Amino acid sequence: MTGLSTIPRTLVIAPNWIGDAVMAQPLLRLLKQQHPERPIDVLAPAWVAPVLRAMQEVDTVLGTPFRHGALQLRERWRFARELKQRGYAEAYVLPNTLKFALIPWLAGIPRRIGYKGESRYGLINVMHRDDPMHPRAMVPFYAALAAPPSAQPPAGLPRPVLKLADGQIAAVLKELGLHQDKPVLVFSPGAEFGNAKRWPTSHFAELANTVLASNPEVQVVLLGSGKDQAVCAEISALSPRVRSLAGRTSLDQAVALIAQASAVVSNDSGLLHIASALNRPVIAIYGPTDPDHAPPFSDIARSLSLRLPCAPCRQRECPLGHHDCMQKLGSDIVWQELQPMLAIH
Ligand code: SF4
Repeated sequence: MTGLSTIPRTLVIAPNWIGDAVMAQPLLRLLKQQHPERPIDVLAPAWVAPVLRAMQEVDTVLGTPFRHGALQLRERWRFARELKQRGYAEAYVLPNTLKFALIPWLAGIPRRIGYKGESRYGLINVMHRDDPMHPRAMVPFYAALAAPPSAQPPAGLPRPVLKLADGQIAAVLKELGLHQDKPVLVFSPGAEFGNAKRWPTSHFAELANTVLASNPEVQVVLLGSGKDQAVCAEISALSPRVRSLAGRTSLDQAVALIAQASAVVSNDSGLLHIASALNRPVIAIYGPTDPDHAPPFSDIARSLSLRLPCAPCRQRECPLGHHDCMQKLGSDIVWQELQPMLAIH
């Protein structure tokens, strides 16, 4: 890192999860409105960086040079010294951990804004508090950091928006061997936090078969990480014309593909929030999680949840063993919502 201009900069330390990073975008918009002249740098792990590069408010994405979960105190101190040269007036620390709050403190950044998190007294000097009994939805949770801690929660917040550079979508479709003139339907059947958040693979396959029977031109594509390959292979086995790209795209490519999608059907996962911020028609399927906590914001979005009495249990595996919240949410229910989306786009 080299010395920069004398204009003070803003540092935002991004959340470590893709969906949370997307939902922090309205905060960045508010910060840009407050100080249009101030460049915003975002510190983020490599797996979140493509999402931040699609935010127009971001000047520079700085890679986090630390191993996930490790304290690495000496490395943090060295990195903080490099950050100091960039001339930050303030830092917004979005992860709630102590180790991320250390960085702006070590870098001598005068205003360090964040939630109390792991009792970060002194490290955070503009400290906000959240009520664990009444947790706020993610967008207002982050956006509140743009105002003083004593202020009322901001009203009328902008929704998260991602934008891609011209030509990026066409290039990616070509790279992936997809037709630009045929509809693309994206399924995101993975979920980072365990099986309970996954809509059954048989339901995804049934839905794909219904879609393809109704319009054979639709290109049904499965997106996810390498960890989702087995789940995606199960769907492709039951619906052979479905194409699994899980683990075979970069996140940049996945973002571009989603931007082209006629519709996206997703579990409660990071790709859902990317689709929402790209304003694609979205169907979000919720089982053990709360559909109101981080809902999709697209102009056309449906949140489907059976809202069983046992939900939201927020467990990784169904503690009751039957997984009814997902099993009983049949593909016919999703098809009812998806059909008009595909007809429009
Ligand atoms: S307990 Fe209820 S909400 Fe939780 S996973 Fe099982 S069926 Fe779903």
